[in-house]
Amino acid sequence: MSFTYKRSSALFNEAQKYIPGGVNSPVRAFNAVGGDPVYVKSAKGAYLHTEDGNRLIDYIASWGPMILGHAFEPVVEAVIEATKKGTSYGMPTELETEIAKLVVSMAPNVDQVRMVNSGTEACMSAVRLARGFTGRDKIIKFAGCYHGHSDSFLIQAGSGAVTFGSPNSPGVTAGTAKDTLLAQYNNLEQVADIFEKNEGQIACVIIEPIAGNMGCIIPQEGFLEGIRDLCDVHGALFVFDEVMTGFRLARGGAQETTGVKADIVTYGKVIGGGLPVGAFAARRQIMDHLAPTGPVYQAGTLSGNPLAMSAGMAMLTHLNNNPEIFNSLAGKSEHLHKGIAETLSRQGIDHQINRYGSMISVHFTDQPVLDFETAATGNNDWFKKYFHGMLERGIYLPPSAFESYFLNDALSYEDLDRTIEAVDAVVGKW
Ligand code: PMP
Repeated sequence: MSFTYKRSSALFNEAQKYIPGGVNSPVRAFNAVGGDPVYVKSAKGAYLHTEDGNRLIDYIASWGPMILGHAFEPVVEAVIEATKKGTSYGMPTELETEIAKLVVSMAPNVDQVRMVNSGTEACMSAVRLARGFTGRDKIIKFAGCYHGHSDSFLIQAGSGAVTFGSPNSPGVTAGTAKDTLLAQYNNLEQVADIFEKNEGQIACVIIEPIAGNMGCIIPQEGFLEGIRDLCDVHGALFVFDEVMTGFRLARGGAQETTGVKADIVTYGKVIGGGLPVGAFAARRQIMDHLAPTGPVYQAGTLSGNPLAMSAGMAMLTHLNNNPEIFNSLAGKSEHLHKGIAETLSRQGIDHQINRYGSMISVHFTDQPVLDFETAATGNNDWFKKYFHGMLERGIYLPPSAFESYFLNDALSYEDLDRTIEAVDAVVGKW
C-alpha cells in the first residue's frame, strides 16, 4: 500500500501564506528531503494520525519528548486536572517544589533546578550562569552540536541550522561570535589546544554528551573524561546539554550512563511531558549566583507554569517508578539497528548506524561517523529516497539526515519489524 498526502499538501499551501515558510520551526518544512510536510491531526501511542487519514509509525516522538508514546494517559489526566484550576498564576506553587525535588533526586550532581520554557532558554541561561560564576566571557562548543537558537550557539550549529545551510546565522553579531570557540566533536587535543591559547578566558565547555543534532554521534572513550579534566585544570565549568538525553537514556541521563560529572546540566523535551519546558540544574554553590539570590539575572512570566509542571511531573514520576523502560527502549533500538543493518548489508548499501540507548541514526556512508565532518559524508540523495520511500509505507522518520530517531515506549516489536520490512522494500527498488 502506498500512502498519499494530498490534504497535507493543500494545508501547507495555505499555511505558507500566513506563516514564514509555512512552519513554526524550520525542520518541519521538509527542505532537506524535498516535498511537502505531513500534517498531523492527532496521535496516540506509537502512531501519528495525519490529516490525510493515514496512520504512521512515529520515530520522532515530537523530537524526543513523547518517550512514553503520544497522549500518555497519566500526563493527559494531569494536564486536564491542572487546567481546571487555572492556567497560569505568576506566583509560586507547591508543585514547583515537588518537581524540583524529583528532578534533583533523579539527576546526579545537582542540588537545585530552575525551570524555563524551552531547551534554548535553558542553554542560554546556563551559559550566562557559567559566565557570571567564572567571570569569564568565552565558551567552547562543538561543530554540529545544537543548543537552541540563542545567538552564541548559532556558530557551526547542527540540526535545522545545518539542514538549511546556515550553521552560522545572519543576525548574530561578530562581537557575539568571537566569544564562541569551536572544536571538532571527539577531538580532545583540539579542546586542549583552545584552552591553552585562551588561558584564563574560558567560562565553560558546552556539549551534547551524546550528540543528536548531526545524527546520533557517540563520544569516544576518554573524550568526555578528558574534557572534564581540562575544565578542572583550567577552572572552567563543564555544561552537559541533556535536552535530548535527559530522562531518556536513564533516570540520571548521560551523566549516569557515561559516569562523567557535569557542573551545569540543561534539560528540555522529556522533562515537560510534551508541554513547553526547559530547565537547568547545578550544585548549590553555582545556583546561588542566580537571581534573586545572586546577581546573574534570569526570569520568565510562564516559567514553572502549572500545566507544564503537571505534565512534567506525571512524565518523570512514571519514568522514575518504571526505570526498566530505559532498558526496554534500548532493546527496541538494538532490534531496529540489527534489522536495518542486516537489510542494508544484504542489499549492498553503504551505511553506518550509530546508536546509544533509544537514540539511533542511519548514515549512508562507508566512513565511521564520529563528528560533523564525517556525518556530512552521508549521501543525501539516498537519504531523500529513503525518507520518502519510508513515508509512502507509513513510517515517519526525521526529515533530515542530521537528526536522530527517538524511540518511544509504545512502539511494539511488530512495529519495528514492519519498519525493517519497509527498509527492505524501499532500498530493494534502488
Ligand atoms: N539542546 C539540544 C541538544 C537540542 O536538541 C535542542 C532542540 N532540539 C535544544 C537544545 C533547543 O531546545 P528547544 O527547541 O526546546 O529550544
